[in-house]
Amino acid sequence: MRKPLVAGNWKMNGTSASNQKLLENMLASAADFSGIDVAIFPPAVYLYQVKEALTGSGIKWGTQNVSSYLEGPYTGEISASMLPDFNAQYTLIGHSERRCLYDELDIDQLVLDKLVAEKYQRAAASGLTPIICIGETPQEHDQGKTEEVVLRLLDTLIAHQGAKALSRTVLAYEPVWAIGTGKSASPEWAQNVHQFMRERVAKDDPETAANLRILYGGSVKGNNAASLFSKSDIDGGLVGGASLIADEFIKICQAAAQQI
Ligand code: PEP
Repeated sequence: MRKPLVAGNWKMNGTSASNQKLLENMLASAADFSGIDVAIFPPAVYLYQVKEALTGSGIKWGTQNVSSYLEGPYTGEISASMLPDFNAQYTLIGHSERRCLYDELDIDQLVLDKLVAEKYQRAAASGLTPIICIGETPQEHDQGKTEEVVLRLLDTLIAHQGAKALSRTVLAYEPVWAIGTGKSASPEWAQNVHQFMRERVAKDDPETAANLRILYGGSVKGNNAASLFSKSDIDGGLVGGASLIADEFIKICQAAAQQI
C-alpha cells in the first residue's frame, strides 16, 4: 500500500502574519491526517518560519524549485545543498509555472526535461525527495498528445538516472489546463494517465513502479479530492490555490487519510 501524500504549493503568496494563521489552523487539525504524508511548499523566504512552526508536528515542508547547480554565480537560485539547513525534505521540480518562464525563452521541451532530470539528480544527492511535475498544455491536450508529453519526461528521467532512482521520487501529473482554472481533470481521465505513467516505469522496474507515488494536481478542492483519491493509481494531490485556505486544505488531507 502506497502512503498518500498531499502537497500544498503556496506559490508566491502569503505574509508572515497570514502564514502564521494558516499554519496554526493546520496544526490544530494535524491529528486528523497523521496517517498520511502532508508537506507544504512556501515561498523560500518563509522556509525558516515554516520550520519553526512545524517542527515536531509530522507535517513536512520543501521548496517550489531548486537549482541544477550546486553553488556559484547563479543569482536568485537556491541550491539543494542549502535545504537541509531548514530541515526541508522535499522539493518541487518542473512545475508548469516554472516551465512557462522557459517557454517564453523558446527552449525546446526536451531540453527542459533534461534540466528537470539534472535538478532531480541534484535534489536526490542532497537527500531530498523530489516531486517531479509533468502535464500537457491545453494545446497538447486538444491535439491528443498527453501520453507523448508524459512519456518524453519519463524516458528522459529513466535515461538519465535509471528507473531504480525513481524509488526516491514522487511524480505529479498536473495537466496545465487544470491548474488554477477550477476545471479539474475527471477522476477517470487522471486515473488513465497515472496508470499509463506507472506502466511505463514498470517496463524498466516493476517493483519501483508498484511503490511509486503519483500525485494528481490541478484544481483539487475539498469537494473533489475524495473522488480523485479513490482511484487506484492516484496516491494523493499536489494542491495550489486550495492549500492557502485552511479549511479546504484540511478537507483535502482528510479525504486522503480516508483512503488508508
Ligand atoms: C499547482 O500549483 O500545482 C496547482 C495544482 O494549482 P491549483 O491547485 O490551484 O490548480
